[in-house]
Amino acid sequence: MSYDPNNIFAKILRGEVPCIKVFEDQMTLVFMDIMPQAEGHLLVIPKEPAAQIFELSEDAAAACMRTARKAAIAVRTALKPPGMTLAQANGSAAGQTVPHFHIHVIPRHGGGFLAPHAAQRGDAEKLKQLAERIIAAWPESEETR
Ligand code: AMP
Repeated sequence: MSYDPNNIFAKILRGEVPCIKVFEDQMTLVFMDIMPQAEGHLLVIPKEPAAQIFELSEDAAAACMRTARKAAIAVRTALKPPGMTLAQANGSAAGQTVPHFHIHVIPRHGGGFLAPHAAQRGDAEKLKQLAERIIAAWPESEETR
């Protein structure tokens, strides 16, 4: 799939659209999902321009998973959900709505309930407060919990 440089995550990476940032390193960026399916829903994206997993370099894939692991640890420490889902969609048939590779990190509170996908904007203040708690719990590279 050819990469559309005007997709919303490309604009976030270029600083043209704001995001509630949680973490950034050389290869990845983590921010709050603006339409969260659960409290603390994060997105992990590569800085590399890849629409789907098929175009993603091995290095960027590894960097995304390294960062997603840290994101999951931070969310678990900060919010203490009993479970956590990591999800990643490729193509509209799979439910992908933004054509820049991303991993969802979604805390799960049991009962199978998740808010609808990409449906309702979260309260900006609440998202910022959640981001601060997750940032405070961000682990060191080798740390496990
Ligand atoms: P997917 O449908 O798997 O491609 O996931 C895209 C996700 O991006 C959805 O969960 C949306 O809620 C989220 N999203 C869309 N626009 C933004 C934005 N500007 N900032 C943060 N998250 C966004």
